[in-house]
Amino acid sequence: MLIGVPKEIKNHEYRIGLTPAGVKEFVQQGHSVLVEKDGGLAIGFDDAQYQSAGAEIVATADEIFARAEMVIKVKEPQPEECRKLRPGQLLFTYLHLAPDPEQTRLLLDSGTTAIAYETVTSDGAGLPLLAPMSEVAGRMAIQAGAHNLEKAQGGNGMLLGGVPGVEPARVLVIGGGVVGINAARMAMGLGADVTILDKSLDRLKELDMIFGGRLKCIYSTADAIERHALEADLVVGAVLIPGAAAPKLISRDLVSRMKPGSVLVDVAIDQGGCFETSRATTHQDPTYVVDGVVHYCVANMPGGVARTSTMALTNATLPYALKLANLGVEAALERDVHLRNGLNVHAGMITCEAVAEALDYDY
Ligand code: NAD
Repeated sequence: MLIGVPKEIKNHEYRIGLTPAGVKEFVQQGHSVLVEKDGGLAIGFDDAQYQSAGAEIVATADEIFARAEMVIKVKEPQPEECRKLRPGQLLFTYLHLAPDPEQTRLLLDSGTTAIAYETVTSDGAGLPLLAPMSEVAGRMAIQAGAHNLEKAQGGNGMLLGGVPGVEPARVLVIGGGVVGINAARMAMGLGADVTILDKSLDRLKELDMIFGGRLKCIYSTADAIERHALEADLVVGAVLIPGAAAPKLISRDLVSRMKPGSVLVDVAIDQGGCFETSRATTHQDPTYVVDGVVHYCVANMPGGVARTSTMALTNATLPYALKLANLGVEAALERDVHLRNGLNVHAGMITCEAVAEALDYDY
């Protein structure tokens, strides 16, 4: 199959659909890969590395979209990219169509077949192509929190790990899923005093088995949230109720009673945020202060570490993309229910029930 990897054009997006190592896997399995000139340059993957992996470097996105049978990207196609897609072509990328009627209409008009990373499933529970970005965001949450606890950033001046003779900072992680476990692991690694809250007793048991007494695993109630938030130096919001907006677990009143200079990192901001005082911020201007509490609410945290995120994403998408290339789209979709769950649009039809429902299309 002829695979095409265009340079991402969304504002401040530096990730790319395949690493040079990913390209090499396709080439070794008998496929050809086109990569747009300078597509990975911003994150240290230059054209020479792609060429030595076996890619053909092409000058423009137009040429990629005109020639490729499968286009592999990171972000949802922008309107000018949608207009380049054509019937019979396969698009493999994040789409997030439910809140995006314009993109949906353009994809339907294009006649293309589009598989969305975020709805591809796996044998275990969970969404395997979303998980790597949650891993990145969970780990980053502690980096961002530690930085913002510094006095110069408005924080209370606590070092997460303390030093011998001085207490470490208290970190509260609300939600013990993929983001939460990664945040807890990082915070414990730095020597902080970490508590994690979850609504799922099964998940709390799992976390307890993994970390033993080093991690306090507490059932999430309004009372537990209040008690632990009032003592915390850093709170990470990491809850998810699939398909719903994040619940507001920390009220404005509770924020006003938290320690001055404490830090809230709301990773769930892409689902509306789980603190009443949260509003989405950017990597360019990531924080603001409410009642003396620093808020970090960046909606696309993985974009800040685009090189690591690109490698993590390629690791996760590669087996699925190779299956599509090796078997052909039709046979791969027929044989693999998980890929079929990822199919969102085909030949002018919505093929994902949740998207059809959200946008009021026939399914
Ligand atoms: P997940 O499904 O793996 O985990 C969510 C956890 O929250 C589950 O264990 C669930 O039991 C728990 N939960 C639900 N309600 C709760 C409550 N009231 N109290 C305590 N726990 C509760 O999800 P995830 O992959 O960890 O993602 C978490 C959030 O982070 C999502 O909103 C996701 O969209 C977001 N996210 C944001 C970014 C970003 O850049 N900002 C990046 C990746 C993920």
